[in-house]
Amino acid sequence: MAEFEIIEKYFKALASSNKAARNLADDSAQFAVKNNCELVVSKDIFIEDIHFLLEDGGYKIAQKLLSTNLSDLAASGATPLYYMLGFGKSKNIDEKFIAEFCKGLRDLQKKFKIKLIGGDTSAAPKAFFSITIFGSVKKNQNLARFNGCENDLIFVSGNIGDAFRGLQIKLGEKNNYTKSQKNYFLNRHFFPTPQIILGQNLLAKKLSKCAIDISDGLLADLRHICKNSKLSAEIFLDKIPFYEKNLPLNQQLKLMSGGDDYELLFTVDCKNERKIINLAKKLNLKLSCIGFLTKKQRCEITLFNSQNQQIKLTKFGYEHF
Ligand code: ADP
Ligand code: MG
Repeated sequence: MAEFEIIEKYFKALASSNKAARNLADDSAQFAVKNNCELVVSKDIFIEDIHFLLEDGGYKIAQKLLSTNLSDLAASGATPLYYMLGFGKSKNIDEKFIAEFCKGLRDLQKKFKIKLIGGDTSAAPKAFFSITIFGSVKKNQNLARFNGCENDLIFVSGNIGDAFRGLQIKLGEKNNYTKSQKNYFLNRHFFPTPQIILGQNLLAKKLSKCAIDISDGLLADLRHICKNSKLSAEIFLDKIPFYEKNLPLNQQLKLMSGGDDYELLFTVDCKNERKIINLAKKLNLKLSCIGFLTKKQRCEITLFNSQNQQIKLTKFGYEHF
């Protein structure tokens, strides 16, 4: 397929009935942002054999690509609006792949009420995708990793390490899980849940000023909060929400430094703790308090076991190089 055929046949459908996209027939997209709002923008790149395997198929690859972008908006408390797609087409991407890829995007577009408004397409030696996503927040509202305060409680949504388990299963590592457990973990790996509604609620209800989405691993991303907020964290192993109970320590540490959870890690003033518990009920979400921020030491994480002994941390998360 030629470049313009792909755009005509597949991408235009993802941009239809959307003025901003100008029917994917112009040099740029153009849209207004509401008067009392600010634009929130984020970009992710996704490279064959680093972020995905082509054999995963177009549907799963597209879902993960767009979900991880949405997750960045979630961590900013933003409402998603539009996105642009960079598409590097390698020789082994065929039309079936593109059709499935677009189906993956379309299903998420519907769920999050967003539209494609443009992009760029080129031949590439390896498959390559990139999305730039646009969202909005009310003026002067900030949910950011540098906003943590001393004594804030640290909360996390969902479970830690389910996606990493899914990756292990995908890579064929030995395990004793049932078929339905395997499917559950694989789904967590391929189909992350961008916590958009949680992020919006935290920001709009002023329940949190500080959040990050967990992409590289709980410990690595908590360390980003610490460094950027110039604080340290004390967290408790028996408070970390793992799918499995009573895992050996080395397993627990592995899950805390395995990436791809795409859950929200956020900090909360103690006086709002009750409100967070109520929000969890209202949104039917698991929200766990795992520790607190402190001035002690230098932007580091201290992990305690149930006997209040300190556990030495060596690996924090996935690093891209
Ligand atoms: P230009 O030469 O100005 O870069 P192109 O011919 O590359 O324009 O693109 C034509 C139109 O198709 C533009 O509206 C562009 O946004 C859109 N487009 C190209 N590639 C993609 C893509 N991967 N996803 C969405 N829209 C795309
Ligand atoms: Mg172009």
